[in-house]
Amino acid sequence: MNMNLSFDTISGAFGKQRPFIISGPCSAETEDQMLTTARLLAATGKVHALRAGIWKPRTRPGQFEGAGLEGLKWLAQAGKETGLPITTEVANASHVEACLKVGVDILWVGARTTVNPFSVQEIADALRGVDIPVMVKNPVNPDLELWIGALERIERAGIKRMAAIHRGFSSFDKGPFRNAPMWDLAIELKTRLPELEMFCDPSHISGNRELIAMVSQKALDLDMAGLMIESHLNPDAAWSDAKQQVTPASLSSLLDGLVVRTVTSNDKTFKDTLGLLREQIDQIDDEIMQKMANRMKVSRQIGQYKKDNNVTILQVGRWEEIINTRVALGKAMGLDEGFTRDLLRLVHHESIQVQTKVMNGATVKV
Ligand code: PEP
Ligand code: MN
Repeated sequence: MNMNLSFDTISGAFGKQRPFIISGPCSAETEDQMLTTARLLAATGKVHALRAGIWKPRTRPGQFEGAGLEGLKWLAQAGKETGLPITTEVANASHVEACLKVGVDILWVGARTTVNPFSVQEIADALRGVDIPVMVKNPVNPDLELWIGALERIERAGIKRMAAIHRGFSSFDKGPFRNAPMWDLAIELKTRLPELEMFCDPSHISGNRELIAMVSQKALDLDMAGLMIESHLNPDAAWSDAKQQVTPASLSSLLDGLVVRTVTSNDKTFKDTLGLLREQIDQIDDEIMQKMANRMKVSRQIGQYKKDNNVTILQVGRWEEIINTRVALGKAMGLDEGFTRDLLRLVHHESIQVQTKVMNGATVKV
């Protein structure tokens, strides 16, 4: 798909650090909280931009909805004092105007805004002719097109320095997370828009501070360019997202514990070994494709045989038997049960398609 989108990086605009670390409170609450947190973060020497929510999209009314323009002044002050670029969430044109007025360095579009093309377009229109980096969080629902659509609207307004932020998705089945990571969606976006810088927000994926390090490491292992992690000088007393915030000191040790890997290595032995392993993978993939083609050929023959004998395509008992035996076999071979089930589902789906085609007309020599 050629979407004719072109991007420059955000980290490139601020010293090219990798991973690019953005941290600060979920919400700017008071002048003291904002400035003290910012000073402590800057003192770690490991943070490259300061964040703070100024207008907070809360799920239920009656909760703290952000300090507004007053808070924006504290954030701007924190940026001046520390010399760090500052960033906040904008959800409409008046937020954009207020941010431009006080010199916010990077804007971001929040997950609840990315879902709404009207709001995203309003932000894009307010940004026309302005040169400011913009980050776009994934929509709350797992819809890649909606995420790309939001990036596209802002890029079309003339913004080139952009990044996507992966913050997880609302899901019925979210496991231990507040927002299910669904890494596949982030990987798919990276594959479709390779020039676009991708950051991860492990705080909103995790929902509690215990999982942040693990999610951060996974993001780095997937070659994400940066992390946005919420921090607060007294997390338990935070006015929003208390469970997932960490102190600047914990942030510092969390970052120290992360392993930053490179995409490749110039070491000759590494390259030779990787080359040999990749040859093996290529060979195995060829064999898998050949086996799949053979399997579908047999499915086609089964389809013809069922047709000749007026028997239905789907036979639930047989399908259950396949699942049970293959899952047991896969387990014995060290394969993950979820993986085996996903693979079988895909193969079974294609097998039914193939047999349906035969039932609907195509004749196969048995
Ligand atoms: C936030 O970053 O504080 C926030 C509200 O995030 P999200 O849009 O990912 O929910
Ligand atoms: Mn938050």
